Amino acid sequence: MTPASRVFIAGGDTLVGAALLDLLPQRGFTNLVGTSSDEPELTDAHQVAAFFRDARPEYVFLVGGPSGGIGRNRTHPANLMLANLQTITNVIDSAHRFGVCKLLYLASSCAYPRNAPQPLRIESLCTGPLEPTSESYATAKLAGWKLCEAYRAQYGCRFVTGFPANPFGPHDDFGADSGHVVPALLRRIHEATERGDPELVVWGTGRPRREFIYSRDLADACLFVMRHYDGTAPINLGGGSDLTIAQVARTIADVVGYRARLVFDSTKPDGAPLKVLDSSALLALGWRPATDFRSAVAETYTWFRRHTAKEGHIHACATV
Ligand code: GDP
Repeated sequence: MTPASRVFIAGGDTLVGAALLDLLPQRGFTNLVGTSSDEPELTDAHQVAAFFRDARPEYVFLVGGPSGGIGRNRTHPANLMLANLQTITNVIDSAHRFGVCKLLYLASSCAYPRNAPQPLRIESLCTGPLEPTSESYATAKLAGWKLCEAYRAQYGCRFVTGFPANPFGPHDDFGADSGHVVPALLRRIHEATERGDPELVVWGTGRPRREFIYSRDLADACLFVMRHYDGTAPINLGGGSDLTIAQVARTIADVVGYRARLVFDSTKPDGAPLKVLDSSALLALGWRPATDFRSAVAETYTWFRRHTAKEGHIHACATV
């Protein structure tokens, strides 16, 4: 990959896509294609094929397809699964047909079996039942990995799959009901602080553990993998913070300045009890995350406030 390479971020409107759009030019990759009016609708096979035929991207980051937190996964499983399957199929097939040099596909840590041993190792994929609250979305994500493998096996395509930890950051979906835990709690705690609410309800028991990664760090990991990893096996993209939901809520409350009580509502689902990745392969290649959890939350909160002030609302974008 050279500065002149034509690079397509399939899913520039997602959390990780936005971070890649920021990062790549900073690293000298300025020949980005499909970043404005020529960006195809990824669920539309004709648009995607026409775009690849005309723009001829050489390197593709496949980070598109909608996602959501535990709330959206429960209310919109069909939408999430269908749009992801369409996106994956269209982009991967066009990448093959139009001779892309290399493609990195981002799957999701929720595609690991619910009861897989922790930290999650690649060998555990497809060895047991998925977490029911995100099963439809996770099945689509697994299909993407298997499709990359199939194209590599049949056609020798250099298609690599990454399984990222839970990302968050600017451009996330800050919807109180649709977003993942960090953006959803940032918004809810911000609003509770403004109203002076005496308590804030956190979903679930607060005991589940998650590994988080700042979206800028994940974009950096994606670029690193694109340049330095070409294995057949997928690679976990983590190495960041492993925290309980209670710790997450307290850190966010601290950053926002919310001094009132946090109440844990155990009638709401916990989802998977634990999701922490074994990222030893990535770390052995020399990659490290740069941002600690609290600083990343603080940066994200600054972005959230600037955005709310400017636009009067938060645009809910699709997150990986
Ligand atoms: P998951 O990692 O796929 O389970 O997705 P989420 O990021 O949506 O949820 C992670 C954990 O945070 C779950 O145990 C949720 O119950 C908990 N949680 C606590 N408060 C919230 C909230 O306001 N929104 C979301 N999405 N999750 C919350």
